[in-house]
Amino acid sequence: MIEKISPNKIRFGTCTKDCYGSCVFKGIWDDEALEYKLLSTRPLKEHPFTNGFFCPKYKQREKLLYHQKRLKNPIIRTGPKSENKFEKISVKKAFEIIVEKILDIQKGNDPSSILGAFYAGNCGLISQYAPLRFFRKIGATITTGGICNEGGCAGLTELFGTYSTANPFQLINPSTRLIVIWGSNLSESNNHAYYLVKQALKKGTKIVVIDSRCTLIAEKADLFLHIFPSTEQLLVKMIVNELMACDAYDELFLKDYVDSYSSIFTEAAKVEKKRLLSQIGINYQTFQNFVDYLIKFKHQTLFNIGYGVQKDFYGGRIVKSIALIQIILGNIGKPGTGIIYSQSDFLKPVLRPIQTYITQNEKNSKIKKIPIIKLGSALSSEKYKMLFIYNFNPASSLPNQNLLRKALLNKDLFIVVLDMFLNETTKYADIVIPAKFDLESHDIVSPFYIPSLSINIGGPCPYQNCMSNYEFFQQLAWKIGYEDLFFQESEETIFDNCLKMLPLKIQEYIDLQGYYLLFDNNSVPFNNLEFPTSNYRIQARGPHFKFGKNELKRKFNKKKNEFLLITPSHYYFLHSQFGQLNTKYLEVFSKIFLTSEDIKALDLVIGSEVLVSNEYGNEVYILAESPNLKPGTALIYSGLSSTLKKNPNVNNFIPDDPEELGYSGAYNSAIVKITKVKS
Ligand code: SF4
Repeated sequence: MIEKISPNKIRFGTCTKDCYGSCVFKGIWDDEALEYKLLSTRPLKEHPFTNGFFCPKYKQREKLLYHQKRLKNPIIRTGPKSENKFEKISVKKAFEIIVEKILDIQKGNDPSSILGAFYAGNCGLISQYAPLRFFRKIGATITTGGICNEGGCAGLTELFGTYSTANPFQLINPSTRLIVIWGSNLSESNNHAYYLVKQALKKGTKIVVIDSRCTLIAEKADLFLHIFPSTEQLLVKMIVNELMACDAYDELFLKDYVDSYSSIFTEAAKVEKKRLLSQIGINYQTFQNFVDYLIKFKHQTLFNIGYGVQKDFYGGRIVKSIALIQIILGNIGKPGTGIIYSQSDFLKPVLRPIQTYITQNEKNSKIKKIPIIKLGSALSSEKYKMLFIYNFNPASSLPNQNLLRKALLNKDLFIVVLDMFLNETTKYADIVIPAKFDLESHDIVSPFYIPSLSINIGGPCPYQNCMSNYEFFQQLAWKIGYEDLFFQESEETIFDNCLKMLPLKIQEYIDLQGYYLLFDNNSVPFNNLEFPTSNYRIQARGPHFKFGKNELKRKFNKKKNEFLLITPSHYYFLHSQFGQLNTKYLEVFSKIFLTSEDIKALDLVIGSEVLVSNEYGNEVYILAESPNLKPGTALIYSGLSSTLKKNPNVNNFIPDDPEELGYSGAYNSAIVKITKVKS
């Protein structure tokens, strides 16, 4: 696993940045160097998804690893909360203060008022889950659920009993004649899938893009359906209606493998085409061209659905309805067909025992949990006395920032943050612990786009006071006096034990090449068409095309200066990550983008300041023009990547009401008002 070419060492690594890529690479290290120990990273050419390249946002890991602003010592607050004003303290002192707080709370007999909040900032399994050993031991509360793709996962699971049903390498399978890219800006957010799609294009595969933004892949597509945000269900209803009219559905497939399929046809039996087309925002010919493609390439069509479409109050239903097209065409379980969404469910059976071991769940099965999306309101209850935050930048990435930040200001809430840099969240910390980078820790990574496993062999960290998540909580356990055997295991031992729990074949692959792929290019999961539902059949119970109460009114009856807000991540950032590397693009977070027609209609001037407001917040933004949007839509890039610039945060406008099925973030559900700033 570790090859030595004196004096440098080569270690396998995986990018753990909560990204579709999970790029696998070899890191070249000089362990003897005083500081710059990681010399370079080489993305694996032989990995069929990494394909020998990184994304532009994160080419230079070395720069970030030894960045002058990296935290190297524990720091304690000297200024008021909401400012990053701290002074250095020793590791010993930091632990003394934190232990004293914990013991105090334990004396009061309510350890569940200690809250551990974490997410997927570093997707390594040990990094995310090993701290749970500590939280279980002390009887703390932890956050659960997610803010990302869970709505869509829940919607697909209602149909198939799992949300992972397709092999993404089918993108380049010769049987695939049509790829439908639905709400996925591949060229910016999933550049490795984009690379595969470009290969497919060269071979003559047809590409249809459906999106509320005109993206680079939309420009290259054979057909582009530029739809209004959150109108997917209306489009699906029309398509089903048309496929019924042409008898183009796969009746045999439906009879043999789908329960309650007639409910789809009943609901789509009547459509007012003219009205729906105007609500969706496309003309009849474009719609008809898409239907013609679907009919022509029946049993040869693959869908790739992005996560943006389900960042809506009804996101799970939206993804579920999109999947219905593939179901009624019988485009499931055959080469060249399927629905690519999140593939992480494929590996759950393999990972479940590993996760149980990492968290030591079997020893202490009960732990209180709160949904991560409701962190702000949970903290507002003032029940919690102490908050640990790791792998997570909630004061940038959670919705309803005003509510959350107000709760974080509570002086009776003692906050400990583990991070590599000062950020929006550290502004509320009492103590910040300098964290190690993913590259400096041993870990196992389970990507969510390509079904696979890969590893990170930690190289040495030159800063002796930096700790990995597990190392920090392990030391904290020792200082409190816990003597459990599982706190004696080093991170490397946990890593080795996890690998040993994998089937031998996977262990051998990982040892040899740093990763293991579940599928090759030709694999077709579920080709026996037996799904993990109660009777192995697809469950197509409705309702399928219903929005919630007043939802249509909310979307289509906006006033002239009201806009549906979309909040994607920027090409050079991954939500709140990479702010230290890509500083020249930080200006973008202070801009709001509208179409030139909307700017004109509101009598506004590009480059001027506008007030953006709704019931959750108000901020001044610089007005910018984008030709890629639909009228009535505004765009502000997600999260804030840095404290270098005083930029507003779009999550000030986002409701913390979760998506209804998966309880994830409805980040594309806000409506904002735009008005001139009075001079
Ligand atoms: S951020 Fe994504 S694409 Fe970029 S290097 Fe990491 S895994 Fe690869």
